[in-house]
Amino acid sequence: MYDLETSIEKLTSVGKTTARLLNKIGINTVFDLIYYFPFRYDDFSQIIKINQLLPNQTVTVKGKIILINNRRSFRKKITITEALIEDETGSIKIIWFNQPFLIKNLKTGDQVFISGRVEFDNLGLQFVSPAYEKAKKGQNLNTAKIIPVYSVTGRLTQKQIRFLINQALKSVKLIKDWLPNQIKEKHNLLSLSQALSIIHFPQNFKVLEQALYRLKFNELFLIQANNQLSRRYLARNKAAKIKFKEKEIVDFVKFLPFELTADQKKAAWQIFLDLEKAKPMNRLLEGDVGSGKTVIAALAMLNVILNKKQAVLMAPTEILAKQHFITLNKFFQNFNFNIILLTGSERILNNQAKIKKDEFQEIIKNGEADLIIGTHALIQDDLQYNNLGMVIIDEQHRFGVEQRKKLKEKNLNKTAPHFLSMTATPIPRSLALILYGDLELSMIKQMPLGRKKIITKLVAEKNRNQAYQFIRQEIQNGRQVFVICPLIDESDKLGVKSVKQEFKKLDKFIFPEFNIGLLHGKLKAQEKESIMLDFKNNKINILVSTSVVEVGIDIPNATIMMIEGADRFGLAQLHQFRGRVGRGGYQSYCFLFTDNYNNKTTERLSALVKSADGFALAEYDLKFRGPGEVYGTRQSGMPDLKIASLTDLDLINLTKKEAEEFFDKNNFKNFPLLKNKLEQIKIIAHLE
Ligand code: ADP
Ligand code: MG
Repeated sequence: MYDLETSIEKLTSVGKTTARLLNKIGINTVFDLIYYFPFRYDDFSQIIKINQLLPNQTVTVKGKIILINNRRSFRKKITITEALIEDETGSIKIIWFNQPFLIKNLKTGDQVFISGRVEFDNLGLQFVSPAYEKAKKGQNLNTAKIIPVYSVTGRLTQKQIRFLINQALKSVKLIKDWLPNQIKEKHNLLSLSQALSIIHFPQNFKVLEQALYRLKFNELFLIQANNQLSRRYLARNKAAKIKFKEKEIVDFVKFLPFELTADQKKAAWQIFLDLEKAKPMNRLLEGDVGSGKTVIAALAMLNVILNKKQAVLMAPTEILAKQHFITLNKFFQNFNFNIILLTGSERILNNQAKIKKDEFQEIIKNGEADLIIGTHALIQDDLQYNNLGMVIIDEQHRFGVEQRKKLKEKNLNKTAPHFLSMTATPIPRSLALILYGDLELSMIKQMPLGRKKIITKLVAEKNRNQAYQFIRQEIQNGRQVFVICPLIDESDKLGVKSVKQEFKKLDKFIFPEFNIGLLHGKLKAQEKESIMLDFKNNKINILVSTSVVEVGIDIPNATIMMIEGADRFGLAQLHQFRGRVGRGGYQSYCFLFTDNYNNKTTERLSALVKSADGFALAEYDLKFRGPGEVYGTRQSGMPDLKIASLTDLDLINLTKKEAEEFFDKNNFKNFPLLKNKLEQIKIIAHLE
């Protein structure tokens, strides 16, 4: 038996070359081998008598080799190995291609298992390139049962890896089973070592199911345990209670130029309830682009400021921060609030001139500033808040425990601010439970009344000129247009190459009469800002941009969103681009272009043409492409699910409930194995 940390080179029959191949697929130790799970199984468990064989069955026969030899096929220039095997009921022919060495292993008279599909041609039944194995006493790993199939590279063979995993599994009991017994018993779970053995070599599909369940349970429980711990950590902090200022809030809502939707009212109400508690609010407000999250933020901030506390609104970019600054100045024009804009390049107080660095630092510190809007500059080190009551983060999903700790420390009154995160990324329920299991969720699913549906079209290349003609008309009517381009290749991470080409084409050849702007991630913040400003002021007719085009930016006059290489983007992202138009009263359009016409792509893009529901599109994308591709594993803090999947909604819910209950009743310090595991995970998983 090997130690779990034993390097694979120490294993029987692993030479330097094999070791290198294994390292390539991430296998360095015995432990790694055990956790290298098959991606599918071949069911060779049915052993059939030769006279019972039927065409197209996948089965195993057991028999004696009565003849085996190689011959060259001159026409195809390959070696063909032919064999005949028999059992007590009959015989069957077998052929293999290009494996001349077979006759060294298999000899006339050997008892063998042959597993594979039975083929039928004019010569009768035969096996073509089946799996084979000598039917020795003891263990066979490659035939006559349910056989695991692994993803392998290079010259590594299935047989080799099965042989090695079988060796490694002799040490499986050394793996610590950290899931508390009470949970295992309650759900009748297999032991961890059982599950790990079975997932490689299952006796039948029923136990395989149980093994998979146990391993998925582990994975999801850990994530939820992590969520629970950070939730509990945050809840232990003291927050200032913010009273609901009913009269002022009701007046403010009356003064709005529109009626709030039912979802908006509900979300606002949930926030007001949270704010009244002495523990910090910890909430995610999720709503499609244009669903009206800003006004909710305004209501919450108003309530905080009326309670004589400061509020902070943080945006991912300077342009967005500026837009919020302008909007909120308007919203709060009848109040005597001090509103500050603070970004890397600008510092503004109310609608006035710019102020000096130490001046604004002073009024934030002494409490004169009521509302501070900005970018990441807001958590910079030399800033101190007098009595920060609430922090709102726009369009950024995660804001780690660490960052929140920092904000608390900057708060002179030493309370932890209430926290609200807002996002327009439609996140399916299952994913939200994993990514945001530590947050309460408010959702805005309705759009404000009177929004026109954006007409979406997948435009065939032959109709491109027609589309340009349509764009020309719209611009002549005073409207504006976005053109989005994808990356050309990986080396061009910011998509600068393609966006520049497109810009040149439109500027020189297609629309020489119009003003065209160019926006990409390599430009300086200042340049981006001035281009966006020109676009906003209609000095630019067409804005050609990479996907950096700011989420949340409001250009009510833009009516066409044209997307090149649409197949390169996820549906959720395309849906967000589309949300950039249709923000004013004008009928708006989204034109999708692609040079990839395979059925799957067309089908996927058609989903966008048909549906205006961001959540439905996100679910669809999740099924089609998987979460890593849709949301980006790294950026979104998406934990790397090895075996569970986001379609396991029931199990996600169950593990969340179990983790909640467990940490309600127990102190995890009394569970050393679990504690140990959680400490390991913290380093690699999503708790920032
Ligand atoms: P997002 O959720 O994408 O941040 P915004 O808050 O920017 O959306 O709102 C988009 C637009 O809709 C704004 O111009 C806002 O004033 C308007 N709006 C918000 N709520 C309503 C409503 N209930 N009825 C009509 N218009 C609304
Ligand atoms: Mg917004």
